[in-house]
Amino acid sequence: MIDLHNHMLPFLDDGASDWESSIQMAHIAVDDGIRAVVCTPHWVQGCYENSRAVILDAVERLQKRLDERSIPLKVYPGAELHLDFDLPQRLADGQLATLNDTGRYALIELPVDIVPFNLKTLFWELIALNITPILSHPERNLALTRNPMRLFHWVEMGVLTQVTGASLMGRFGPQIQKFTIDLLEHDLVHVIASDAHSPKMRAPRLASARKEVSRLMGASTAKELFITNPRAILSGNSITTRPPRPLEPGRESSTIRKIFSIFGLDSR
Ligand code: FE
Repeated sequence: MIDLHNHMLPFLDDGASDWESSIQMAHIAVDDGIRAVVCTPHWVQGCYENSRAVILDAVERLQKRLDERSIPLKVYPGAELHLDFDLPQRLADGQLATLNDTGRYALIELPVDIVPFNLKTLFWELIALNITPILSHPERNLALTRNPMRLFHWVEMGVLTQVTGASLMGRFGPQIQKFTIDLLEHDLVHVIASDAHSPKMRAPRLASARKEVSRLMGASTAKELFITNPRAILSGNSITTRPPRPLEPGRESSTIRKIFSIFGLDSR
């Protein structure tokens, strides 16, 4: 399997705290059947300003350490780019890393609770640059839980999505687990990755999530989400997607309603 979203590079963000935990994460990944990892440290303006150059260098150093220890894992550069309206310009300038530095796919993280209204414009700008946006863990965005049709329209225009294995396994609670399954059943998911942050916090494991996707959606869909699509993205090739199906909002849990009312938010 290929893990397309992983914070195993040390010292760059809230992921691996040192080389030792980075190596431990590599062992866990290999034992779980992962053979390649795209290292995607956060880029958040004013907080984690990890440039493409810094990430390329750190990946090279990690690969050297893995090779010295004969750990059969290939690591590739990438970044998880927090939403910012400068992203197209920064990507075009080569300041920020795309997945495996191919210039073809950018992993983009939305804020957790809101979705700005003019996002379509940002996505069109990226697509015009021949960069496909991949949204990281949309299943954990509260506004999308309330209004999944927004995600449907983005996927229709060519945006891809990556959900987190742990969401499917219920580690973020039953509401997010159910929304993840809804997304899968409506062909709104293109990749499943670990989003691992340490050997303990969401460790780099995917095998149980793959098994669960096989049970729910069949083995060939599981192969697409864990192997075929990530491999194509890693190589900078296009992926074949099924047309998404509209997903109407479900009934909200009282917890989600409460959280929204505390922040005075309503995304409808
Ligand atoms: Fe992440």
